[in-house]
Amino acid sequence: MSGFLAGKRALITGIASPRSIASGIAQAMHEQGAKLALTYAGDKLKSRVEAAAEEYDAELCLPLDVTSDEQIADLVQSLESQWGGVDILIHSIGFAPRELLKGGFLESVTRDGFAVAHDISAYSFAALGKALYPLMPESGGSMLTLTYLGAERALPGYNVMGPAKASLEASVRYMAAELGPRNIRVNGISAGPIKTLAAAGISGFRDMLSATAQAAPLGRNVEPLEVGNTAAFLCSDLASGITGEILFVDAGYHIQGMPNADLG
Ligand code: NAP
Repeated sequence: MSGFLAGKRALITGIASPRSIASGIAQAMHEQGAKLALTYAGDKLKSRVEAAAEEYDAELCLPLDVTSDEQIADLVQSLESQWGGVDILIHSIGFAPRELLKGGFLESVTRDGFAVAHDISAYSFAALGKALYPLMPESGGSMLTLTYLGAERALPGYNVMGPAKASLEASVRYMAAELGPRNIRVNGISAGPIKTLAAAGISGFRDMLSATAQAAPLGRNVEPLEVGNTAAFLCSDLASGITGEILFVDAGYHIQGMPNADLG
């Protein structure tokens, strides 16, 4: 298989539907010649992820609920026995209890909800990085996570996910600093809003989509495959000098100081 990821073994987490950002990443990486392993969080999603595995010719389809240390250990064992290692980790996982994504941040936040959001959305990247870096070859590897502008700016309804994504982005920098000497690069993509299952839990998400499209320099929202193509680039040797970076794929929305206005 040819392509700039030919021969690379990529573990892709977070496929829940064909609209998932991870589906766009799987498509792009498959097109660039990577070998894929996909994961599913529970039996409910197993058949959907198996369908994706067929579509993108994935070699492995493995269970992974990131709240379980046992499942993370089993995943490591499966990758070691079936592939003898891994070159790329894609972390495309986020979750907060739905009731924390309504109303204001202080209005909705609870001790338990804060802990769950940080555990699943931020700690899980560190946990997977810690478990998988020993499986990456001496020549190096690449880890990538998905984040959102809410990590650095206050956005209505995003609430507890803001601090969780801020923690995730700080983890990218700490992991990049520690793994750099092993030639393992760690980056994040800050994607613009995309209508996925996870996004549907955020109250007012539809307004977020139209406000972003209106204000973005490109005048539209982004598609999962656009995020996927960027992920494929960042995890390839073409991006060999990039680590610890958060790269925006948001049609340019984050550069705007003020929404586009008709000044005429
Ligand atoms: P999605 O299709 O709903 O994917 C989210 C994935 O996270 C699902 O596969 C979900 O599995 C998984 N997940 C949740 N809890 C898990 C757990 N305990 N163990 C393992 N997996 C778990 O939504 P998405 O929008 O593509 O989200 C992917 C990533 O992109 C998230 O980090 C999200 O915050 C980020 N992001 C999204 C947007 C957007 O607008 N969509 C923008 C910027 C960044 P289950 O469904 O089985 O729980």
